[in-house]
Amino acid sequence: RESKGKLPRYPGLERWTLVEKMGDGAFSNVYRAKDTQGQYPEVAIKVVRKFEMNSTQGDNIMHPDFKKQPKTVERANILKEVQIMRQIDHPNIVKLVDFSESRQYYYIVLELCPGGELFHQIVRLTYFSEDLSRHVIVQVAKALEYLHEEAGVVHRDIKPENLLFYPIPFIPTKNPKPRSAEDEDKADEGEFIKGAGSGGIGVIKIADFGLSKVIWDSQTMTPCGTVGYTAPEIVKDERYSKSVDMWALGCVLYTLLCGFPPFYDESIQVLTEKVARGQYTFLSPWWDDISKPAQDLVSHLLTVDPEKRYDINQFLNHPWIRETQEETYAAA
Ligand code: ADP
Ligand code: MG
Repeated sequence: RESKGKLPRYPGLERWTLVEKMGDGAFSNVYRAKDTQGQYPEVAIKVVRKFEMNSTQGDNIMHPDFKKQPKTVERANILKEVQIMRQIDHPNIVKLVDFSESRQYYYIVLELCPGGELFHQIVRLTYFSEDLSRHVIVQVAKALEYLHEEAGVVHRDIKPENLLFYPIPFIPTKNPKPRSAEDEDKADEGEFIKGAGSGGIGVIKIADFGLSKVIWDSQTMTPCGTVGYTAPEIVKDERYSKSVDMWALGCVLYTLLCGFPPFYDESIQVLTEKVARGQYTFLSPWWDDISKPAQDLVSHLLTVDPEKRYDINQFLNHPWIRETQEETYAAA
């Protein structure tokens, strides 16, 4: 953690006192900050440099088109990200507080998620119990349901690094048993912190609308910029773009349940092939004790044909999800 003295000062950000650096994105630094005017609770500020923004996008292996993601962030993209966030209001989506810019930077002021990335929790807990996985994935799905069905937006960059959370004070730990010999060893050494059985970890929020896209006008409920003359391929295209989020949702669910992603290879070429063919397995021993309904749900999301892949409503109506319908996932 950086000390206060080391944090940079940005022109035009005088209202906010930077407290610590929270994240390094490909194009941005994200800081936790306090409001000197006391109007807002602590916020997160995403500072995006305007120039030298060439970097390594297209790194999301949970995205079926991961090679095709853009390599640069342009002004229009930042404005689009902000514009989309302005229209969005959901307890499971990070809220935009303010947007401004200076000569060299854009400043995106966001609702703070003090728990940080879900990614770090997967690393810390090794994997999540089915109950905890459900608790998390339902919240992500509620956000997607809102985006897809109400806001007419596709996110297109769902992955554990872009899923943040607002923690509840107590994070319970305990899985019935470790799943592999390696895990047994860790457990013996007292290092193995098991996924929570119940109680959850808090409110999950989707962040990073940098690759998101509006697919239809939420006012008129029609595809973007058209008045009833929409060609079939456009209508189809919208369905496909939603299905991209569903694929990623499947990758996240898979990763939560076992602790490693469904598709991986050191060679990008081989990895691309595996994704294109939908070549994954429920690897033993890690998947041995994971329920059939959970596996069934994952396989309906990691379906190569987007026409056959589950949409958000099919997802929410799957037996494994409906098991805990009585539970509510309201915002903190
Ligand atoms: P990029 O487009 O560069 O990936 P993100 O919006 O994903 O930028 O932010 C980068 C990282 O900063 C996130 O992965 C997360 O660790 C942290 N971060 C972003 N927004 C917040 C927030 N609202 N609260 C807490 N941490 C955040
Ligand atoms: Mg990100």
